[in-house]
Amino acid sequence: MQIASLGFPRIGRHRELKFALEKYWRGEITQAELSDVASDLRRTHWQWQADAGVEFLPVGDFAYYDQVLTLSATLNAIPDRHRGEGQIDIDTLFRVGRGRAPSGTNAPAAEMTKYFNTNYHYIVPELKPEQTFDIAYNQFFDEIEEVKALGFKAKPVILGPVSFLYLAKTVEAEFDKLTLLPSLLTAYTALLTCFNEQGVEWVQLDEPILALELTSDWQQAITDTYQALDAAPTKTLLASYYGSIEHHLDLVTDLPVAGLHLDLVTAPEQLAAFAEKVNTDTVLSLGVINGRNVWAAELDTLAKRISSVVHDRQDNVWIAPSCSLLHSPVDLEVETELAPELKTQLAFAKQKLTELSQLKTLLDDRQSPLAEAIVAHCALRRHARAKAADQSVIDRVAALAQQDYERQNEFVKRQAVQQDKYRLPLFPITTIGSFPQTPAIRGLRSRWRKGEITEATYTEQLQQVTKDTIERQLKLGIDVLVHGEAERNDMVEYFGEQLEGVGFTQFGWVQSYGSRCVKPPLIYGDVSRPKAMTVEWATYAQSLTEKPVKGMLTGPVTILHWSFAREDISRDEIATQIGLAIRDEVVDLQNAGIGIIQIDEPAFREGLPLKKSDWQHYLDWAVNAFKLSAAGVTDATQIHTHMCYSEFNETIAAIAAMDADVITIETSRSRMGLLKAFEDFNYPNEIGPGVYDIHSPNIPSVDEMVTLIEKAARKIPVRQLWVNPDCGLKTRTWDEVEPALRNLVTATKELRRKL
Ligand code: GLN
Ligand code: ZN
Repeated sequence: MQIASLGFPRIGRHRELKFALEKYWRGEITQAELSDVASDLRRTHWQWQADAGVEFLPVGDFAYYDQVLTLSATLNAIPDRHRGEGQIDIDTLFRVGRGRAPSGTNAPAAEMTKYFNTNYHYIVPELKPEQTFDIAYNQFFDEIEEVKALGFKAKPVILGPVSFLYLAKTVEAEFDKLTLLPSLLTAYTALLTCFNEQGVEWVQLDEPILALELTSDWQQAITDTYQALDAAPTKTLLASYYGSIEHHLDLVTDLPVAGLHLDLVTAPEQLAAFAEKVNTDTVLSLGVINGRNVWAAELDTLAKRISSVVHDRQDNVWIAPSCSLLHSPVDLEVETELAPELKTQLAFAKQKLTELSQLKTLLDDRQSPLAEAIVAHCALRRHARAKAADQSVIDRVAALAQQDYERQNEFVKRQAVQQDKYRLPLFPITTIGSFPQTPAIRGLRSRWRKGEITEATYTEQLQQVTKDTIERQLKLGIDVLVHGEAERNDMVEYFGEQLEGVGFTQFGWVQSYGSRCVKPPLIYGDVSRPKAMTVEWATYAQSLTEKPVKGMLTGPVTILHWSFAREDISRDEIATQIGLAIRDEVVDLQNAGIGIIQIDEPAFREGLPLKKSDWQHYLDWAVNAFKLSAAGVTDATQIHTHMCYSEFNETIAAIAAMDADVITIETSRSRMGLLKAFEDFNYPNEIGPGVYDIHSPNIPSVDEMVTLIEKAARKIPVRQLWVNPDCGLKTRTWDEVEPALRNLVTATKELRRKL
């Protein structure tokens, strides 16, 4: 039995790569200095993996910007606009990824999108109808030499040809991407041949699309690909992850590959079928350590679960993380401020390697003193976790009844009460919540965090900002105001910091894209709200005006999805607990005189499972968690929700079931195309389709917005329509926001006059 690694985070335990990249982009260090930082990181990470007993060290998991982009460059499949003069080099990657680099001409960056159901964003390859592939960039080969120079063996880990095509987009013309497969396979064969010449034995080809429900042409592509690559001189480990591939059991087990990796964390149940069907001279790689979460593994339970497979297969079995450790923070050792009882529950990437060697110990000799100690430690950890439960939260969840999820009356009745109370004009104007987070605001927060200014000064200064934000909205003529969210650094962290059962690390960063990292909160215990979280800011803002000020909250599904959540209870239960905490806040806001409350759910769609057949179950509990958070109020309280980047075609029934009085969505880029789902569904509640694209610095004209609102009005009855930007304005400047909103108000007034 061997220990395998599918990939390690490249960012560094102190985000060294991030800082080096950003310095390089600013011209503060040379490319050679950047490369030095990169090779130091690779060396450290390889050493850690080797120390844990990994024999074949991953190469290709390191990337200056994104590993899919490195592969596109290797295959000579990058857009012409980014090529520049000479050969593809590091700067070419940056031009593709961010539209600019210290050398070469700027050109619009390539599109970036989420990698399957993770929070990692890859650069979408652009393929033309006459696309050709050949080997054009040497990073993989250089890194293989680096590994060899350190005295180790390299295992390239790259995206497989079929997933590469699947994730790419076609440009210049619409065509079937699969027509490019034969020439792509020629390039892959050449690549594998080069690897072989460098002495490589194993190559890991990732085909995460196997976790999806594939149409027959894509299934056929899998068969064709691995039959063709069978001629290559290297051994292929076909890696799947993020979900079960049991629905492709026959397809996959018929492939002539030397090894198969299974994600047994998201889909432990698939082991039985594969253990039976995969013949014993094929390596089975058991992905049992969670590559996507931060909790320590239950090694004793795992060892029991896989021991018979391990013993039956002898040499042809590997134990591994479920997927690349890319999605996991780097090193728990550097966390000095975590509560010890929380720290013992955690394992980051480096600790997960240790877990693998401990698991090997348990499997090799369960009776050894070392194995006994590991088992004892697992038991202790379990015991500590059980003690930490919050019975009052558990009881409250258990006592929930159907009526707790429903508003007092149906929407039409509520709408009448609300219209009577707020007397809003046709096309009420509102914004999504945040206003510009100026350098002054960020400076204030950082001085407060460092203890350079007192809490009182901080609050007082933020109140000034809030007051200014209210005054500007009044001058602009907005109908439903917001306080501006100046006090929030991040819409999840802000609530996480105030909730019981949620914790924070100092360095638990995970790469999101390029040099960007996120530090998700840890939901480690039963979640509750010890005291009001937003009421003071909301009531302060409301005290400044007669017009309604909207209370602003992050919804339970989004808080859950953007955190590292515990795994000892279901996501459904966690969402319910958070839903109750948000519900308490909603009720407190109402009782403090805030009559309009928005519960943001921008991550609602992201949470959808990879397989359509699993969607309904997710939608059921996610909708319920939202409804629970919203349903504690009277008919007169108007509940808004907000979602962005959302496609609603297949989820519109669930969106309607959320029963928010008003939903604001992002529609300006699609020029109201996204509204079609609402139109076809006869969506009954009120909608604010975004008319101002806040991702662009451009200021939309009055005419543009009139056209958009008119378009919306042809799809949705005008009584149901609101007017608002696509999303929050925190990333924009006041110089952009003020004229844009002025035009938005003018456009709305023009339409009100017409009607
Ligand atoms: N209320 C948040 C804001 O305005 C919503 C952000 C989001 O949708 N991502 O910033
Ligand atoms: Zn948004």
